[in-house]
Amino acid sequence: MQPVVPIDVDETTGIWRTDGLPMVYLPRHFLVNNHLAVEAALGREAYRASLRRSTAKSAIEWCEAQVRGKGLDAQATFRHYFQRLSQRGWGQFSIDTLDVAARRGSISLRNSIFALEAGQASDQRACYMFEGFVTGAFSFLLGIADATAVECEETYCACGGRHDHCRFDFAARL
Ligand SMILES: [Zn+2]
Repeated sequence: MQPVVPIDVDETTGIWRTDGLPMVYLPRHFLVNNHLAVEAALGREAYRASLRRSTAKSAIEWCEAQVRGKGLDAQATFRHYFQRLSQRGWGQFSIDTLDVAARRGSISLRNSIFALEAGQASDQRACYMFEGFVTGAFSFLLGIADATAVECEETYCACGGRHDHCRFDFAARL
Protein backbone atom coordinates (compact mmCIF):
# COMPACT_ATOMS: atom_id res chain seq x y z
CA MET A 1 0.00 0.00 0.00
CA GLN A 2 1.01 3.60 -0.43
CA PRO A 3 1.36 6.04 2.51
CA VAL A 4 -1.88 7.43 3.89
CA VAL A 5 -0.35 10.72 5.00
CA PRO A 6 -0.40 13.47 2.39
CA ILE A 7 3.15 14.50 1.41
CA ASP A 8 3.86 17.70 -0.44
CA VAL A 9 7.37 18.36 -1.76
CA ASP A 10 8.31 21.96 -2.54
CA GLU A 11 9.81 21.97 -6.03
CA THR A 12 12.06 24.94 -5.26
CA THR A 13 13.35 24.17 -1.79
CA GLY A 14 12.94 20.38 -1.64
CA ILE A 15 11.19 20.69 1.72
CA TRP A 16 8.69 17.93 2.52
CA ARG A 17 5.45 18.94 4.24
CA THR A 18 2.42 17.16 5.66
CA ASP A 19 -0.55 19.35 6.54
CA GLY A 20 1.74 22.37 6.18
CA LEU A 21 4.30 21.07 8.70
CA PRO A 22 7.88 20.57 7.45
CA MET A 23 8.85 16.91 7.75
CA VAL A 24 12.03 14.82 7.44
CA TYR A 25 11.98 11.30 6.00
CA LEU A 26 14.87 9.20 7.32
CA PRO A 27 15.98 5.60 7.78
CA ARG A 28 14.77 3.92 10.98
CA HIS A 29 18.25 2.75 11.89
CA PHE A 30 19.55 6.34 11.64
CA LEU A 31 16.98 7.57 14.15
CA VAL A 32 17.49 4.64 16.54
CA ASN A 33 21.30 4.77 16.33
CA ASN A 34 21.20 8.47 17.27
CA HIS A 35 18.76 7.70 20.07
CA LEU A 36 21.00 4.98 21.51
CA ALA A 37 24.10 7.18 21.23
CA VAL A 38 22.46 9.94 23.29
CA GLU A 39 21.18 7.38 25.78
CA ALA A 40 24.73 6.06 26.21
CA ALA A 41 26.18 9.57 26.60
CA LEU A 42 23.64 10.93 29.10
CA GLY A 43 22.56 7.79 30.90
CA ARG A 44 19.15 6.26 30.41
CA GLU A 45 17.25 8.06 33.17
CA ALA A 46 18.63 11.53 32.45
CA TYR A 47 17.91 11.07 28.76
CA ARG A 48 14.44 9.73 29.50
CA ALA A 49 13.62 12.81 31.60
CA SER A 50 14.96 15.15 28.93
CA LEU A 51 13.00 13.39 26.20
CA ARG A 52 9.84 13.64 28.27
CA ARG A 53 10.04 17.41 28.16
CA SER A 54 11.08 17.82 24.53
CA THR A 55 8.70 15.28 23.03
CA ALA A 56 5.77 16.51 25.15
CA LYS A 57 6.44 20.05 23.93
CA SER A 58 6.44 18.86 20.32
CA ALA A 59 3.26 16.83 20.81
CA ILE A 60 1.45 19.87 22.23
CA GLU A 61 2.64 22.07 19.37
CA TRP A 62 1.51 19.47 16.84
CA CYS A 63 -1.92 19.16 18.44
CA GLU A 64 -2.37 22.94 18.57
CA ALA A 65 -1.49 23.17 14.87
CA GLN A 66 -4.10 20.52 14.04
CA VAL A 67 -6.78 22.45 15.89
CA ARG A 68 -5.89 25.57 13.93
CA GLY A 69 -5.59 23.79 10.60
CA LYS A 70 -8.38 21.22 10.78
CA GLY A 71 -10.73 22.55 13.41
CA LEU A 72 -10.74 19.28 15.33
CA ASP A 73 -11.84 19.20 18.96
CA ALA A 74 -9.39 18.19 21.66
CA GLN A 75 -10.30 14.52 21.83
CA ALA A 76 -10.41 14.11 18.05
CA THR A 77 -6.99 15.78 17.91
CA PHE A 78 -5.63 13.36 20.54
CA ARG A 79 -6.86 10.40 18.49
CA HIS A 80 -5.59 11.95 15.25
CA TYR A 81 -2.15 12.38 16.80
CA PHE A 82 -1.75 8.65 17.44
CA GLN A 83 -3.29 7.84 14.07
CA ARG A 84 -0.75 10.04 12.32
CA LEU A 85 2.18 8.56 14.30
CA SER A 86 0.96 5.15 13.16
CA GLN A 87 0.66 6.29 9.55
CA ARG A 88 4.19 7.74 9.66
CA GLY A 89 5.83 4.47 10.63
CA TRP A 90 6.64 4.86 14.35
CA GLY A 91 4.53 1.80 15.13
CA GLN A 92 0.84 0.98 15.30
CA PHE A 93 -0.75 2.83 18.21
CA SER A 94 -4.22 1.97 19.46
CA ILE A 95 -6.02 3.78 22.25
CA ASP A 96 -7.40 1.01 24.47
CA THR A 97 -8.78 3.17 27.27
CA LEU A 98 -9.42 6.90 27.36
CA ASP A 99 -11.29 8.00 30.46
CA VAL A 100 -11.29 11.79 30.35
CA ALA A 101 -13.40 12.12 33.52
CA ALA A 102 -10.99 9.95 35.50
CA ARG A 103 -8.07 11.57 33.65
CA ARG A 104 -6.33 8.37 32.66
CA GLY A 105 -5.98 5.89 29.87
CA SER A 106 -3.89 3.24 28.18
CA ILE A 107 -2.41 2.80 24.74
CA SER A 108 -1.10 -0.29 22.99
CA LEU A 109 1.71 -0.13 20.47
CA ARG A 110 2.52 -2.84 17.97
CA ASN A 111 5.65 -2.89 15.81
CA SER A 112 7.37 -0.09 17.70
CA ILE A 113 10.47 1.09 15.86
CA PHE A 114 12.53 0.75 19.05
CA ALA A 115 11.36 -2.78 19.80
CA LEU A 116 11.92 -3.86 16.19
CA GLU A 117 15.47 -2.44 16.14
CA ALA A 118 16.30 -3.97 19.54
CA GLY A 119 14.87 -7.35 18.54
CA GLN A 120 14.90 -10.21 21.01
CA ALA A 121 18.34 -9.39 22.39
CA SER A 122 17.26 -6.89 25.03
CA ASP A 123 14.61 -7.28 27.69
CA GLN A 124 14.64 -3.57 28.59
CA ARG A 125 11.58 -1.47 27.92
CA ALA A 126 12.91 0.23 24.82
CA CYS A 127 10.16 2.65 23.85
CA TYR A 128 10.35 5.28 26.59
CA MET A 129 10.65 8.03 23.96
CA PHE A 130 6.92 7.65 23.42
CA GLU A 131 6.11 8.41 27.07
CA GLY A 132 6.53 12.14 26.40
CA PHE A 133 4.44 11.85 23.24
CA VAL A 134 1.63 10.56 25.45
CA THR A 135 2.04 13.07 28.28
CA GLY A 136 2.09 15.94 25.78
CA ALA A 137 -0.97 14.77 23.87
CA PHE A 138 -2.93 13.98 27.04
CA SER A 139 -2.07 17.28 28.72
CA PHE A 140 -3.27 18.97 25.51
CA LEU A 141 -6.52 16.99 25.66
CA LEU A 142 -7.12 17.94 29.29
CA GLY A 143 -6.07 21.55 28.76
CA ILE A 144 -3.27 21.28 31.32
CA ALA A 145 -0.51 23.77 30.60
CA ASP A 146 2.18 21.71 32.35
CA ALA A 147 2.73 18.33 30.68
CA THR A 148 4.66 17.11 33.73
CA ALA A 149 1.28 16.93 35.50
CA VAL A 150 0.64 13.84 33.39
CA GLU A 151 2.48 10.65 34.22
CA CYS A 152 3.08 7.94 31.67
CA GLU A 153 5.04 4.72 31.78
CA GLU A 154 5.69 2.02 29.26
CA THR A 155 4.23 -0.71 31.45
CA TYR A 156 5.61 -3.49 29.31
CA CYS A 157 7.45 -3.76 26.01
CA ALA A 158 7.52 -6.16 23.08
CA CYS A 159 11.29 -5.96 23.34
CA GLY A 160 12.65 -9.33 24.49
CA GLY A 161 9.71 -11.32 23.21
CA ARG A 162 7.62 -11.77 26.37
CA HIS A 163 4.83 -9.59 24.96
CA ASP A 164 3.58 -9.19 21.42
CA HIS A 165 3.07 -5.45 21.87
CA CYS A 166 4.05 -2.54 24.10
CA ARG A 167 1.67 -0.86 26.50
CA PHE A 168 1.60 2.66 27.94
CA ASP A 169 -0.50 3.66 30.94
CA PHE A 170 -1.04 7.32 31.71
CA ALA A 171 -2.83 9.50 34.22
CA ALA A 172 -2.97 13.15 35.23
CA ARG A 173 -1.89 13.79 38.78
CA LEU A 174 -4.12 16.80 39.32
ZN1 LIG B 1 8.24 -1.07 23.71
